[in-house]
Amino acid sequence: MTRGRASYDAIVVGLGGAGSAAAYHLALAGERVLGLEQFGPNHAWGSSHGRTRIYRTAYFEGPAYVPLVRRAQELWHQLEETSGRRIIQPTGGLMIGRPGTPTVAGARRTAEMGRLAHEVLSRDEVQQRFPQFRLQPEEVALFDPAAGVLFPENCLEAHAAGAVGAGAEIHYGEPVKRWSANSEAVVVETPSATYRGRSLVITAGPWTTRVMADLHLPLQVERQFVLWFPSTASDLASPDRMPVFLWDRGPSEHTYGIPDFGDGVKVGSWFGKRAASPESADRIFREQDADPVRRFVASSLSGVSPRETAYASCLYTNAPDQHFVLGRHPRRRRVIVVSACSGHGFKFTSVIGEVISHLARGEPTGYDLSLFDPNRFDRNRRASKS
Ligand SMILES: Cc1cc2nc3c(=O)[nH]c(=O)nc-3n(C[C@H](O)[C@H](O)[C@H](O)COP(=O)(O)OP(=O)(O)OC[C@H]3O[C@@H](n4cnc5c(N)ncnc54)[C@H](O)[C@@H]3O)c2cc1C
Repeated sequence: MTRGRASYDAIVVGLGGAGSAAAYHLALAGERVLGLEQFGPNHAWGSSHGRTRIYRTAYFEGPAYVPLVRRAQELWHQLEETSGRRIIQPTGGLMIGRPGTPTVAGARRTAEMGRLAHEVLSRDEVQQRFPQFRLQPEEVALFDPAAGVLFPENCLEAHAAGAVGAGAEIHYGEPVKRWSANSEAVVVETPSATYRGRSLVITAGPWTTRVMADLHLPLQVERQFVLWFPSTASDLASPDRMPVFLWDRGPSEHTYGIPDFGDGVKVGSWFGKRAASPESADRIFREQDADPVRRFVASSLSGVSPRETAYASCLYTNAPDQHFVLGRHPRRRRVIVVSACSGHGFKFTSVIGEVISHLARGEPTGYDLSLFDPNRFDRNRRASKS
């Protein structure tokens, strides 16, 4: 049985961080939108759950991200205003490590090139201002005053509710099984219906290579854990005293953390990679997942107990160069594919929704998106053969 009408301007597949924002911005622009999500609202099987996400502006991943992250922040504040939900909270952010590490040196380069407010702090200065952090002798920090925290479940709910308010139809529990596209239209099949549209937006997160099999994108899904550790000192870890942080101690020892919003300090790490698939991902918690993080908390944070009280698993979808995939399908121009992950995409999903809306309606986006071109892997493959 068909739910809703069968023909739309834009069909969005996957309503996680990126898809819910896309549905919202497309609907605000007056498009007749259908959003299809295989699970229910705010499920915990993809990449956009876990109560909090870091946003930051001195982006060590490259200056190309700065205009996007600035617009993303504006949009998050607007969403907070229009939805009346808690969406964004500034806390400031510290990028910690030796001066030459990619996180510290890259954040500094981006801040200088983009003329972003920032401070480079010595170990002593960090210890005076932020006694929660115990740096090693050679470590320094870059302070990004415009960094902070997003509340992902609220963001998804606000985008989805806003999309429906602007006329979008959203179907939860309706997985897309097949799609096709020609120069006239796109056709999307689910177990209960067949829909036609003018454009198709695929924001399928860890399922992207399944839904977009013909592109052979070299994306790798990786299982991650985050843990919550209780504060032991009255307000040392509160959001008005503790900034979000990224701590770089070499390629396999990156840690990040978020202050205590009432459920403990959240800490995650990139201690070693665990390849996975969304279906077979091992979501069982094991002591060896937690041990390096507990050791980090014990050695590097003050006022925080190294025994976690909660944990969650989540999936990264990594591109080989750690940049996003965002653009048109090279052969099916009505199809837009987005994988805004590689472990750092959530903060951008508001602006990505807006960019998708411009792309789908054939309007200029105002950004240089070449870094995110879905065809770049093909070009690299061809170049490596020549
Ligand atoms: C532990 C962890 C910590 C992170 N920390 C940060 C951070 O601090 N800051 C930051 O900016 N980013 C962070 N990220 C990255 C960020 O969360 C992701 O980049 C972002 O959530 C990706 O959103 P998405 O929409 O691409 O994927 P998802 O949110 O996973 O959405 C994809 C959706 O598509 C649906 N779907 C898939 N296939 C189908 C189908 N066939 N039919 C219908 N629906 C389908 C899925 O069910 C899912 O709901 C973190 C990620 C993890 C895992």
